[in-house]
Amino acid sequence: MREFELIARYLRPVAEQPPRAGVTLGMGDDCALLRLEPDQELAISMDTLVEGRHFPPNYPPEHVAWRALATAVSDLAAAGAAPLAFTLGLTLPAAEVRWLEAFAAGLAEASAAFDIALIGGDTTRGPLTLTVQVHGTVPAGQALTRSGACVGDQVCVTGTLGDAGEALRWLDKKDLDADQSWVCQRYHHPAPRLAVGQWLRGKASAAIDVSDGLMADLGHILKASGVGAVLDFESIPVSPALQALQGGDAKTLALQAGDDYELCFTWPGTAPLPAKIAGIPVSVIGVIESQPGLRLRRDQRVKNVQLEGYDHFQPGGIGPL
Ligand code: ADP
Ligand code: MG
Repeated sequence: MREFELIARYLRPVAEQPPRAGVTLGMGDDCALLRLEPDQELAISMDTLVEGRHFPPNYPPEHVAWRALATAVSDLAAAGAAPLAFTLGLTLPAAEVRWLEAFAAGLAEASAAFDIALIGGDTTRGPLTLTVQVHGTVPAGQALTRSGACVGDQVCVTGTLGDAGEALRWLDKKDLDADQSWVCQRYHHPAPRLAVGQWLRGKASAAIDVSDGLMADLGHILKASGVGAVLDFESIPVSPALQALQGGDAKTLALQAGDDYELCFTWPGTAPLPAKIAGIPVSVIGVIESQPGLRLRRDQRVKNVQLEGYDHFQPGGIGPL
């Protein structure tokens, strides 16, 4: 199959015809064109997924598509932006019809679920790699950032943590029980917290999505804001499924594992925090302090913890380029 045929047959149908409001020119020309409302800013983020590094070899193509788009859209959620359009860099080892059909179906499903339109991309041959660049809109000056956390703010997270990390143990297993299947769904189908992020605009002092693990990602907020935090171990939210599968180790996994794509945000200490935002439960897990670094309170004892999470260039990663 030729490149233009692959694009026309599998990717073109994923793009909306005619394109949505805000997309003046969609896929097919040299450039796509976006038009912003006055007083809106364009929020842009890019994520790359490499087979064998970000998802297992022979991972189902519909899950590849969902995860590629969801992980990128999650950055829009963390900024409080509304999705508008995305481009897709697709590198494929071969043009396999069955793979492409399932991938396109997954991509169409995800783009409809997140209300984001495919407007272009690039297609090449090589080891399976996906790069998604997302474009979203946010009222000028109102994007959530990592740098606004203040002493006394509450540290909060949406949903539950550690589920996708637990799923890594079960992805290649058969005959899963209900809890194992549930954590695997959390890995296959991350749900970017878009409505929560938009609700938090003008209210939260800082926000980030949890992709590399709570400790690592909260660490980015702390560094960018020039503050520290103490977390309460017992307050870390874990799902019944993770509790059943990990028992006493569930909260430890929840602190460190990535891939859940929940939001971590800081909430000014004086304002009351709702129990749910846009239908998603939120938990207060700690408080911002002036002393830099991250501390964990457990059984009335407070100890320092490392801020490092997953790093592609550390030992075990792929090494320096
Ligand atoms: P050019 O050579 O002008 O860069 P291409 O032949 O690479 O154009 O692409 C033709 C059209 O198809 C462009 O509009 C491009 O954005 C789109 N396109 C190419 N690859 C992809 C892809 N993986 N996903 C979505 N659109 C794509
Ligand atoms: Mg061109």
